[in-house]
Amino acid sequence: MQFNVAQLLKEPIGAMRRYELVEDIGELDPELAALGPLVGEVELIRIHSGILARANLSTAMQVMCNRCLEPIALPVRFTIEESFRPLTEVNTGRYIAPTEFEGEEEDLEDEALIIDEHHVLDLSEVVRQSIWVTLPMYPSCNWTGTGECPNLTRYLRELKATQEQAGEEIAMDEDEAVDPRWAALLELRKQQGNQGD
Ligand SMILES: [Zn+2]
Repeated sequence: MQFNVAQLLKEPIGAMRRYELVEDIGELDPELAALGPLVGEVELIRIHSGILARANLSTAMQVMCNRCLEPIALPVRFTIEESFRPLTEVNTGRYIAPTEFEGEEEDLEDEALIIDEHHVLDLSEVVRQSIWVTLPMYPSCNWTGTGECPNLTRYLRELKATQEQAGEEIAMDEDEAVDPRWAALLELRKQQGNQGD
């Protein structure tokens, strides 16, 4: 996701480059599990303060359903519109003082938006942040978003059947055989059962 913008920086305001992006993002963030490359279109436009990057990107992430903890594939789409500022002047290599910066003050402070001294504009950090912002806070395997998570519904049905078979008490060794991800839920049901006694 690195673009050398040396030539573009020498061009007049409004000059543009367009790129088709197909980028492996497996290494982008250890906590993000990408299921495919990042694809889409990137536009880099020369503006007075540097380069405006505009992108329309998509990929797929593996996340966990918030209710049943099953892994699910989640399509992720987002757009980027950020202005990057050059660290050095492209013709002379002279470092540009922050006081000379003509863009927004918030852009000045964001290290992710700096074009380095080799005139390389790196979109990775902006992409990484965008993915995190795009991911739902409570992903659910029920993609339509209504009703109960089908995996959880099935699990509760199976659990109920097992409990009915085993009678009211669940033996300790049976607890240990249960998937640890369900242990808390099982404990809760036992407590509710005890309250009813
Ligand atoms: Zn689920």
